[in-house]
Amino acid sequence: MRLILLGPPGAGKGTHAQVLSKNWNIAHISTGDMLRDALRAATPLGLKAKEYMEKGGLVPDEIVIALVRERLSKGDAKKGFLLDGFPRTSQQAESLDETLKDLTMPIDLVLYFKTSLAVIIRRLSGRRVCSKCGKTYHLVNFKPKIQGICDACGADLMQRSDDREDVIENRLKAYEKQTEPLIDYYKKKKVLAEVSGDLEVPELSEELEKLFAKKGLGAQVGSKNKK
Ligand code: AMP
Repeated sequence: MRLILLGPPGAGKGTHAQVLSKNWNIAHISTGDMLRDALRAATPLGLKAKEYMEKGGLVPDEIVIALVRERLSKGDAKKGFLLDGFPRTSQQAESLDETLKDLTMPIDLVLYFKTSLAVIIRRLSGRRVCSKCGKTYHLVNFKPKIQGICDACGADLMQRSDDREDVIENRLKAYEKQTEPLIDYYKKKKVLAEVSGDLEVPELSEELEKLFAKKGLGAQVGSKNKK
């Protein structure tokens, strides 16, 4: 199964990407995670990306396009993948089309997480992430067992610097201006399915599974792990 998750920051793309990649045994490719890893490791790419990410703007297309192209050509992407946070501009979408054509791995479905502003703000302002492994929590909806500590690795939780109110505003502007046009782009290609990002995780998970069954996606590469 090859999917793109499209939607504003705070729509729940990352959360559902984690669930789907585990259930369907497909690669979770998050450009945000890849850039944050590069930033933590202080690589030249990370340092370049930092100036854009801190302000809530988009990292230049050529950087993220090269990252994704390289990642998609790795062996594990052949069994299926899920793109989370990419593409975010028309140029990225066009370049992705070319890459996937070269690799003969067409997209099955683009999931558009339509989400209300109130939900976006609530999710982003309450989000906490592990400073070491990057696992995501929420102050109200998804608390760790011990306050401020990651269940998975025991490191401290922190607020992402771009989840602060002033930066959130810029991220939403970038989304509206540069990413929203992709909804039409994929609608025209007849691969778009709209789902509600306002739903809580269990409800939306159930809807997604129904949608995949309806589209006959279960029988393809990336078969579902038995629970
Ligand atoms: P995310 O974790 O997807 O919210 O991404 C965090 C930040 O990383 C974004 O605000 C951008 O600065 C940068 N970023 C992630 N993905 C992309 C992309 N596809 N194009 C440009 N910048 C990106």
